[in-house]
Amino acid sequence: MPVNIFGEIFNRIFSVENIGNQVKTNEGSILYGLLHLQTPLMIVAGHTDCGAIKAAESNFLEEPMAIRSELSIVKNSLDEGRLQSGLVFDSQDKQLLYSQLAELNVDMQIKYLLANRAVADLVDKKELMLLGVMVDLHNVYGNGYGAVYTSNVNGECNNAVLQGTTNLGCLAERVKRLMVK
Ligand SMILES: [Zn+2]
Repeated sequence: MPVNIFGEIFNRIFSVENIGNQVKTNEGSILYGLLHLQTPLMIVAGHTDCGAIKAAESNFLEEPMAIRSELSIVKNSLDEGRLQSGLVFDSQDKQLLYSQLAELNVDMQIKYLLANRAVADLVDKKELMLLGVMVDLHNVYGNGYGAVYTSNVNGECNNAVLQGTTNLGCLAERVKRLMVK
């Protein structure tokens, strides 16, 4: 997602962008932001019907090496996510399917970050919040084009738990997930 959706970014937002919003692709830059710039809020922003997710789910062997290697990272996130979530992703509606996978992908990035001890410590001390959001460019969630939904907070991705979390402010009102366990 273009970071200017947050308005003026100069000296306010440390932005790292790559295809399929993968932590592993730019892990050094991300950890630098978290551990050295001491950002209090990291947002992993996925979006509906994501082309990178689509590409990772397709046969990308003909792509140049650099693209293949980044798409492989996306593909691994999705494969691991499928295994770990126990959810079935078999919708015939492709736009819905790729949006569900984009949501899963956001979860996997936060999970991966939390596996880093130093990052998890910051979250435990409440010095850092890891926020997963989904930007609904295609009205897949059904509340309008461009709506942004809270899908994950510090690894928690249960709708009811998130909605009942008292210190989330307006983020709790924006909780919505396509994939519900
Ligand atoms: Zn995308």
